[in-house]
Amino acid sequence: MSYLMIKQLRKNKQYKVAKGVLLFTQPKSPYFYGKLRINKKYVTKSFAPITDFEEAKSALLSWQKSFFSNNRITTSEIIAPKRFDRDLVNISDPIKNDFQFIEVLRIDPPKKSIQERQHSYSEIYGSFNQSEAANQAHRCLDCGNPYCEWKCPVHNYIPNWLKLVNEGNILEAVELCHETNSLPEVCGRVCPQDRLCEGACTLNDGFGAVSIGNIEKYITDKAFELGWKPDLSLRKWTSKKVAIVGSGPAGIACADVLIRNGIHCDVFEKQSEIGGLLTFGIPEFKLEKKVIKRRRKILEGMGINFHLNTEIGTDLKISKLLKDYDALFLGMGTYTSLEGGFTGENLPGCFKAIDYLIGSTNKLLKIDAGNTFIDLQKKDVVVLGGGDTAMDCNRTAIRQGANSVTCLYRRDKNNMPGSRKEVDNAIEEGVHFVFNTQPIAIEGEHKVTGVRVMETTLGEPDINGRRIPIPVKGTERIIKADAIIVAFGFRASPADWFQQANIQILNNGLIDVADGEKYEFQTSNPKIFAGGDMVRGSDLVVTAIWEGRQAAKSIIKFVS
Ligand SMILES: Cc1cc2nc3c(=O)[nH]c(=O)nc-3n(C[C@H](O)[C@H](O)[C@H](O)COP(=O)(O)OP(=O)(O)OC[C@H]3O[C@@H](n4cnc5c(N)ncnc54)[C@H](O)[C@@H]3O)c2cc1C
Ligand code: SF4
Repeated sequence: MSYLMIKQLRKNKQYKVAKGVLLFTQPKSPYFYGKLRINKKYVTKSFAPITDFEEAKSALLSWQKSFFSNNRITTSEIIAPKRFDRDLVNISDPIKNDFQFIEVLRIDPPKKSIQERQHSYSEIYGSFNQSEAANQAHRCLDCGNPYCEWKCPVHNYIPNWLKLVNEGNILEAVELCHETNSLPEVCGRVCPQDRLCEGACTLNDGFGAVSIGNIEKYITDKAFELGWKPDLSLRKWTSKKVAIVGSGPAGIACADVLIRNGIHCDVFEKQSEIGGLLTFGIPEFKLEKKVIKRRRKILEGMGINFHLNTEIGTDLKISKLLKDYDALFLGMGTYTSLEGGFTGENLPGCFKAIDYLIGSTNKLLKIDAGNTFIDLQKKDVVVLGGGDTAMDCNRTAIRQGANSVTCLYRRDKNNMPGSRKEVDNAIEEGVHFVFNTQPIAIEGEHKVTGVRVMETTLGEPDINGRRIPIPVKGTERIIKADAIIVAFGFRASPADWFQQANIQILNNGLIDVADGEKYEFQTSNPKIFAGGDMVRGSDLVVTAIWEGRQAAKSIIKFVS
């Protein structure tokens, strides 16, 4: 038997050993895995941490030897997979093959044509069909040490539900998804998978990560299509009740866990629809609003009461909630836009990203919220910033029929903070990017006429590991614009009643849920818990879900 063919695949330290044995590594990680294929079955083992390939190989070979000897397997029983060295192929019929990840390319569901995307607000990605989902799921190596699970902020049981999808067992898969995640259909659509689960997939780089996000979306969408509803037959109602302020992902996730545990929940939301930024921030072309409406029906069916158009502090006092409920959860988000601090930001024609996006959503959803719509049709638009919010503004302006959309970012493409996928989508749709360029003033007398910029070079990394942009003298110039959108992110917006409710905040305005508290996510008022963006700062849907769920578990202990 030969183990001699060892091949290095690209630069990411992935290797294969032909004839029945595979050895590969997690990219940029000292962990090596051995995978032993014994005819149609395979066995995996991780060797950790090993940094040297030769050392890993010898560990693999000695493991293989002892495995064969312990199991009395003779070398003549090993048959090399027939198609092992054939070219990669993309097939649509279900196949059963242990080396599927080599033979079946990673695919994503088809995207709409660019022409259609430039006008349509509906989601740009299609969905997998059953056989595509099954084949893509079967690419999972079940590598024994699933980094995808650890990198996923809610620690989804990814390899387990991939296996169920491959077997066609959608109803079991959807139950498993909901054991860790309250909104899997949302995360499947909007998580930056390239830097979370899929970024950590062992197959990433060399072979193409398993399309985890799209399979998660497929599972939930398909289950809803089949009429799935959460099974609450074993739930025992308690006499406890909890008030939740905010119906964003943190509030929804908290309510989901509480209601499944028999705790009555009232969710108070100041807007006219649930979802927080899922409804009013993230545009339709990433997440259609019917997805949130469908989820609302499920949540209401589980027993959650939503009180819309009800702002705590204005319509209802926090003291009333403290009196009427056993515990409170706050998931109110962060809504204070960061400003550039340069002249001209108050000129007509210069807009805050969140105002622009909310106005656009209100119009699309036909919500009467006064004169909030900002129309950029036929305008030359410049968007300042390089994160996901900036990408959403860029792509909304394209759909509104702007003359041109230019995105200014002070670092380079590799140092952009948002999801790579969304930047590529923006480029495809016609957004023009100007990198290494920093705005220093908004030009114009009575309204915006342009933005004054300077070029930058990148210096040493800051404490977050991102290289600091340094302005280059003598590179000032003006980029003409009729409209400018400032998308620099958000900071905390603490309510004026926090002090009265004895809720301590940190210097940056975020709520202090100190590690020392008795229960995780408990604030300085023992009856009040908090999570999501208002605790961790603007972040992600999936991290808000995690904090809402964890806080719910603490609340259950607290009220019991
Ligand atoms: C434009 C944009 C695009 C984004 N894109 C992505 C993306 O693609 N992927 C991703 O993972 N994340 C994305 N995010 C981030 C993500 O949306 C947030 O991290 C997440 O929604 C935070 O959840 P939350 O529940 O903490 O707060 P929110 O979603 O902000 O929800 C807070 C809720 O509390 C309500 N509320 C506030 N005060 C009160 C009060 N006094 N009384 C009653 N109700 C109140 C608000 O109306 C709101 O509904 C994006 C954010 C923005 C702004
Ligand atoms: S929740 Fe997000 S990070 Fe976790 S598996 Fe789903 S898409 Fe990946």
